[in-house]
Amino acid sequence: MSWFDTVELGPPIEVFLMNKLYNDDNYPNKVSLGVGAYRTNEGKPWVLPVVRTAEQALANDESLNKEYLPVLGLESFTIAATKMLLGPNNSAVIDNRAFGIQCLSGTGSLRVGAEFLNRILGKKIFYYSNPTWENHKLVFRNAGFEEGREYRYWCPKTRGLDIHGMLEDLRNAPEGSVIILHSCAHNPTGCDPTPEQWDKIGEVMKERRLFPFFDSAYQGFASGDLDKDAAAVRSFADKGFELFCAQSFAKNFGLYNERVGNLTVVLNNLDLVQKVKSQLTLLIRGMYSNPPSHGARIISYVLNNKDLYNQWRDNIRTMSSRIKEMRKMLRDNLERLGTPGDWRHITQQIGMFSYTGLNELQSENMVKKHHVYMLKSGRISMCGVTPSNVEYVAKAIHETVT
Ligand code: PMP
Repeated sequence: MSWFDTVELGPPIEVFLMNKLYNDDNYPNKVSLGVGAYRTNEGKPWVLPVVRTAEQALANDESLNKEYLPVLGLESFTIAATKMLLGPNNSAVIDNRAFGIQCLSGTGSLRVGAEFLNRILGKKIFYYSNPTWENHKLVFRNAGFEEGREYRYWCPKTRGLDIHGMLEDLRNAPEGSVIILHSCAHNPTGCDPTPEQWDKIGEVMKERRLFPFFDSAYQGFASGDLDKDAAAVRSFADKGFELFCAQSFAKNFGLYNERVGNLTVVLNNLDLVQKVKSQLTLLIRGMYSNPPSHGARIISYVLNNKDLYNQWRDNIRTMSSRIKEMRKMLRDNLERLGTPGDWRHITQQIGMFSYTGLNELQSENMVKKHHVYMLKSGRISMCGVTPSNVEYVAKAIHETVT
């Protein structure tokens, strides 16, 4: 007899399951397109040169020690990260109405923000795009939100954004609902609203008094330009919205396992800053007390040094250009093979992922027959595509859809 006899086996997490199946597979031409992590042209993980430089400098800095960080994290990091997101000239930054809190990567930032909102706003509904990164629901439910609803986003017919459906669903959302918005490089579709569409989304959200919670997991990584990828968040801040934004540094710094994130908070009243900070302090104190320092120190070191900042921008461009190149090669290969269907969306989509349009059966066939590991939604990570496997991947898609 155990205290835990009633515990049932939970479902596996698809993306990690795919990774395990890939690792266990002995097939020589196997391809991993599941997990969203950058790979070089040789298919290898990449530690950014600028990260190596920072780590070496930090290792030699004898003034650094292993004492606790403050509950809200390393200030030189949170200030730099908040400026990087909102831009140094943003009025919320200048007026000190915006601040950051160092959390455990993007996921931890979402969780802290969601817990806070759930406590402060009372019983509210959270909204997520259909489809979305699958973890949004779990994070918000575990943070105490009882009800989550979808808003329309992806139109399979046009393989683009269903802006009318999205606006209609937002218009029908109860006042005070929390709306999760992907600030760029929407995961999994790779399809973002245009600046004009963002304006419309903002208008409806203002009118309906909805709270924007941005998820920024790909700033700079998507287009290669940090400012462009932050434009949606900045425009909301400029329009006077109070907002949260969960910033991840997993992708743009390649610091996946260091778990560095920043929850940016924009308020419209300076007097509330200390009060909100004090409540977030209590919340985090009771959750994990304070964050780890290594990753935050690396990022702070880079963002606060002009030369290194520029080198980092080059590193980001290297990553985003390689992904764009792979999109082009994959589309070219499919078109050359005469694969039935329209493949323009492969190059029109942005960021790490492509929503291929393959259905569940076809995606399973890619795994079982061709050893190309991808999610059953048809999402592939473009980072897993390389010049040496792109032809194989295209042929596998070709054979699957014909
Ligand atoms: N949001 C989205 C949309 C993501 O794609 C990811 C990474 N897969 C995250 C948040 C968070 O990632 P992390 O916790 O590793 O920063």
